[in-house]
Amino acid sequence: MAKRRRSTIYIGDKRWKVTRCRIRTHRGDCDIEKKLIRADDRLTGEDLVEVLAHEIIHARLWDIDEQAVLDLGIAIARAVANEGLLKEE
Ligand SMILES: [Zn+2]
Repeated sequence: MAKRRRSTIYIGDKRWKVTRCRIRTHRGDCDIEKKLIRADDRLTGEDLVEVLAHEIIHARLWDIDEQAVLDLGIAIARAVANEGLLKEE
């Protein structure tokens, strides 16, 4: 499957860009002003799902605490992996 470096998603009625790029200091981030989610381009499989889920949760629920966002991202990624949806792994 070809890796798309940029895509667009809707979170509710808000249009967000999602991009993969090299981020040296952390795995991903979410810019509320720019409506931009970034994930490090070295992430794959469950780690990538976790980071994308994590940043999407921040994008929609920016004021919930970091531990809750971490817990949800990890749980979503595990559930996706458990369903066998990460075929490249
Ligand atoms: Zn976070």
